[in-house]
Amino acid sequence: MSKNDDMEVLALAALLLIPKKAGLKNIVEELPKGNSNYSKRSISSIDKIVIHHSATNSGTPKAYANYHVNTRGWPGIGYHFVIQKDGSVFQTNYLDTVSYHTSGQNTRSIGICLTGNYDSQQPPALQLDALINLIRYLAKFLGRLDIHGHNDFSSKSCPGDHINVQTISNLAYAV
Ligand SMILES: [Zn+2]
Repeated sequence: MSKNDDMEVLALAALLLIPKKAGLKNIVEELPKGNSNYSKRSISSIDKIVIHHSATNSGTPKAYANYHVNTRGWPGIGYHFVIQKDGSVFQTNYLDTVSYHTSGQNTRSIGICLTGNYDSQQPPALQLDALINLIRYLAKFLGRLDIHGHNDFSSKSCPGDHINVQTISNLAYAV
């Protein structure tokens, strides 16, 4: 193993821990999985975060995973993190997993899903605060990642008209 490989393993180990301070709950191993596996990547290839909404009023990581595995036929849930309206944050894929959430960007991005329909609702402050904290937390390990909405790469409205990605980025990186 080269020194660089060692550094990468150490960085990855840090990311795989359940970071109590950031309020994350790691449920990667508890979620439904398909018959195939997502491919893996070096975490140094990650250069952006893509924000999604569930486009539903409510939902759980397990429900999204079931939909992605059983209806879409994917290897697992598409998102790396799911944030609920009460501000609870679930890690749903390891960061070195190339899951499916944004066509053309999956190898380089982290997918974060906000539960809610933000075409028609305003996101709760608790949920936005949790998102900003998560972005800051990730920046400690990965540096400042560009923040995008799914609609930057797709004709979909996701993450909805009421999610202002530029404001979120400004707030997250203001300190
Ligand atoms: Zn989306």
